Amino acid sequence: MPKRQPLGICDHCLGPIPPRQWYTSRGRPRLYCSVECRNTANSRAGAPIRSGKLLERIARGEWQNPAELRTPTSDEQAYRARKGRRREVAEGRWRNPALSDAAREKLSRPRKHNGLLHTVVEKLRQGLSVTDLSPDEQAAHRAYRKQLRDARREELNRQARERYKLRQEQMTAAQRDEQRAMWRKANEKRTKVKSRG
Ligand SMILES: [Zn+2]
Repeated sequence: MPKRQPLGICDHCLGPIPPRQWYTSRGRPRLYCSVECRNTANSRAGAPIRSGKLLERIARGEWQNPAELRTPTSDEQAYRARKGRRREVAEGRWRNPALSDAAREKLSRPRKHNGLLHTVVEKLRQGLSVTDLSPDEQAAHRAYRKQLRDARREELNRQARERYKLRQEQMTAAQRDEQRAMWRKANEKRTKVKSRG
């Protein structure tokens, strides 16, 4: 490759080349001031060639997304995310996510849990176990868990009732008669067992 800058000037960074190194050992004008500049310049010169080859591979349908060939592990994803944040911080682009419009909207909503229960939920989220809580907090936690269990059970029961109702509606008159006969039979059996006992 011919030298583009005047003798003694680096073709990449335009910095000075020390006078005793203006020529290579073969007597040709030295292109770059350092190994770093040479590597960077060569890499950039090759970029259009590499991307051209890649575009050809894509056109032939040979290209496969490496992320799909081997999905990154969670450690790798965490590493990349951290790297991205660090770069944002270094470039002064990082913004506290809590200050975004969506986050502000969420944070301005009333708390989901109030008072004691809020303290409990926060403590558990920070990795404390139930045994680390005070008796009052444990009681609040138990009550909350019971409330969740009850709500869940109520929801399951409601779904079951709905399914039952739907099944009944879809039954023909004959099927309904059959079902009634079955119940009667089962009831008779039960009363027999009872009277015997
Ligand atoms: Zn240079």
